[in-house]
Amino acid sequence: ERKVLGASARDTTPSYDWFQTDDMITVVIYTKQKGMNAELVIVDCQDKRLRGEIILDDYSYLVEVDLDYEVEDDFAVNIAEKIGKVEIILKKKDHSQWKVLGLPLEGHNTLIRRKERGLFYRKCKLVSKTEVTHDTRLFCFMLPKSTHLQVPIGQHVYLKQIIAGTEVVKPYTPLLPFLPLDFKEPFCQDGAHIYLMIKIYSCGLFTQALDHLQIGDDISVSNPEGNFEKSQVEALEDLFLLAAGTGFTPMVKLLNFALTKVDCLRTVKLIFFNKKEDDILWRNQLEQLALRDERFEVQFILSEPKEDWMDKRGKISSALLSECMKRSKKDSKVLICICGPAPFTEQGLQYLKDLGYSQEEIHAFTA
Ligand code: FAD
Ligand code: NAD
Repeated sequence: ERKVLGASARDTTPSYDWFQTDDMITVVIYTKQKGMNAELVIVDCQDKRLRGEIILDDYSYLVEVDLDYEVEDDFAVNIAEKIGKVEIILKKKDHSQWKVLGLPLEGHNTLIRRKERGLFYRKCKLVSKTEVTHDTRLFCFMLPKSTHLQVPIGQHVYLKQIIAGTEVVKPYTPLLPFLPLDFKEPFCQDGAHIYLMIKIYSCGLFTQALDHLQIGDDISVSNPEGNFEKSQVEALEDLFLLAAGTGFTPMVKLLNFALTKVDCLRTVKLIFFNKKEDDILWRNQLEQLALRDERFEVQFILSEPKEDWMDKRGKISSALLSECMKRSKKDSKVLICICGPAPFTEQGLQYLKDLGYSQEEIHAFTA
């Protein structure tokens, strides 16, 4: 049930307008919200269909029309951050004068809760696939020119494939193509590529199909989802990252952001749980980073090590956490992020609670 919510649901309801020149159509969205940024604006424009979604906290505002005439695939998005004005500038294919912007589609001009807005998918091309470990690969997908989308820190996307005639959807967490070692500026992505680090399971339904994709093949990628807020990291002094296996993926952008943008940060420690030594993702890069940046430390803990493993062994436990997580000072402002298999995360959350950490000091990455 979709409807435009009035002022009662949010303080302000966005609105839109449009105007044209001989070559351009400009759609303007007045979000009436300060602090607009590129991550909050998702635009797709393909086959005359324009879909512009604006994320406003828990709400989503949508402009969705079947355009009057054809436009070029590429378009520009301008955001006036302070006043919250978003412009989508489309290039006309011919110079005709448009009488209307287009035919409104189902969700047009609605402001509804994000959860109620169905996921929107666009086709992305597999550009490259590289080995990370014996069973894990780094996939690079290219967004179409007709899409403006940036995945915020800590959020995931859904991939969709038809497998044996059935639509299958699984979540994956975009990361950076490598761990930047020079943390002067946050590593900026070009906006055109999405990198995913994915473990291929020998009997995994989705990952087996993914592994069989050829370079140039298409896959459907959704809008981002997730509830991590950058504000959780601001003013932080100690950051502890508890990752198990591919639960490492959300930690990559987070590390990059924390080490470049959080001035008061004193320590960042990644406690990385894996089964065996050769399961450790980006071990070399992590060790390099620890050498380069004295704020950063990494500790590997193996649950199924070979005999010669000299470092820590075992699974997550209260004793292990209290031993491995040392604050830089008493009562420091701390955040602990946790991600991995569901039982790992659940147990971890319980241990952290037992150790006296408050809810505001903990963030679990889950679907
Ligand atoms: P399934 O067909 O579901 O499982 C088949 C078999 O694979 C299982 O019986 C088991 O033998 C094996 N298997 C599957 N999952 C596990 C497991 N966790 N531990 C041990 N054995 C297992 N995965 C990534 O690789 N990278 C990511 O960035 C990533 N991000 C995620 C983000 C979120 C929010 C969530 C909830 C999950 C994420 N996952 C990620 C996991 C991903 O969504 C799939 O669950 C995973 O790829 C397995 O899918 P599958 O269909 O191949 O396996
Ligand atoms: P894995 O099976 O290789 O296990 C890695 C480590 O996790 C183990 O060494 C162990 O220390 C710990 N572990 C595993 N099972 C446990 C259990 N039952 N109890 C306590 N500890 C346990 O891990 P994997 O195959 O790489 O799986 C990674 C998991 O992370 C997947 O389940 C995936 O769905 C999840 N994941 C979630 C998100 C998210 O929610 N945002 C993102 C990425 C990955």
